[in-house]
Amino acid sequence: MTAQARAYLDTNASAPVLPSVIAAMTQALLMFGNASSVHAEGRAARRAIESAREDVAVLVGARAKAVVFTSGATEANGTALCPDWRVAGRPARFERLLVGATEHASILAGGRFANGQVTIVPVDADGLIRRDAMAALLAEGGPALVAVQLANNETGVIQPIAEIATLVHQAGGLLHCDAVQAPGRLRVSIGLIGADSLALSAHKLGGPQGIGALVLADLDTGPAPLLTGGGQEHHRRAGSENLAAIVGFAQAARETFAGNDEIVRLTVLRDWLEAELRSISPSIRVFGYGAERIGNTSLFAAPGVSAETALIRLDLEGVSVSSGSACSSGKVGLSHVLTAMGVEAELARGGLRVSLGHHNTEADVRRFRDVFAGIVERAGAKRSGIAA
Ligand code: PMP
Repeated sequence: MTAQARAYLDTNASAPVLPSVIAAMTQALLMFGNASSVHAEGRAARRAIESAREDVAVLVGARAKAVVFTSGATEANGTALCPDWRVAGRPARFERLLVGATEHASILAGGRFANGQVTIVPVDADGLIRRDAMAALLAEGGPALVAVQLANNETGVIQPIAEIATLVHQAGGLLHCDAVQAPGRLRVSIGLIGADSLALSAHKLGGPQGIGALVLADLDTGPAPLLTGGGQEHHRRAGSENLAAIVGFAQAARETFAGNDEIVRLTVLRDWLEAELRSISPSIRVFGYGAERIGNTSLFAAPGVSAETALIRLDLEGVSVSSGSACSSGKVGLSHVLTAMGVEAELARGGLRVSLGHHNTEADVRRFRDVFAGIVERAGAKRSGIAA
């Protein structure tokens, strides 16, 4: 089944793999040498990896050596959330971790910190970190490691990371930023953001699943490795490199960087969709509307429409969207993001996310609009007792 045969509107979950990525990975699979071997086959593999490292670095304005390939953003986050770091080349230990309330599960899990060391920083009704609460928590104890995402995967809300980085650094802490949902939706520069490390994932930008990166702002400041053994990735992540996936990631990074103008096209499509939602029913609520958001994402709910029912109906009509909170079981749970934003449980249960990507056209969004309008109309008719 191709993405074109259906309207696939779930890029934030995983984007369709770009054709150029498939071509690059197919070529890379023919490269069987181990990049640590000294013979010609090994050296060819090494060259491919180092060239890929540069492409991923360019995407986020980092130095190539600062890119550590991992099995995905979950591993990158798990690596960064570590009490033991080297800071400016010297060992440093953090006894506490502060994480935003709307973070991805791989951050909320706390990495290598004990449960009792993790504190959740609340967000306001738009999903933005409450800076007053952050400042108070930072002032409460010793230096903290802090994790705040750049853009939320459910609502698209963008955190004021540069401002948060300043607060954290003034208090002697370090900031890790889960930037998974930013490339292709937002220009990213690790220097401008001010974070000490970033997590990236290839499959959110048309690369393969199962590959990502931890990117450091400073080569002398980084966490203790999660996986130890061989000296790969400059001793920051042991294990033979996933060469084909790394090459695929780099190809997706190159296309994303070259296509930065796509952000404007996707924002126009998303804004059109939200205008249409308002005309379907003025009671439809778009979450995080008052905050700055990445342009490809919209999370909304129509009162009286359950996400589960809508998802199934849309799927039958060939339209793939997500509830904000698809859990790994495939069931629709109550979104911790909407709960943290103070949204009533009943409305939160109706949260539907449309997230656009390079493959989407106006026709896809129109198709969603038409099916969803029918769903809202039927729900309204049911509530008023009219048979639909
Ligand atoms: N962080 C965010 C914000 C995400 O959206 C995701 C993917 N759902 C992850 C981390 C985890 O990424 P991966 O699938 O590469 O482990």
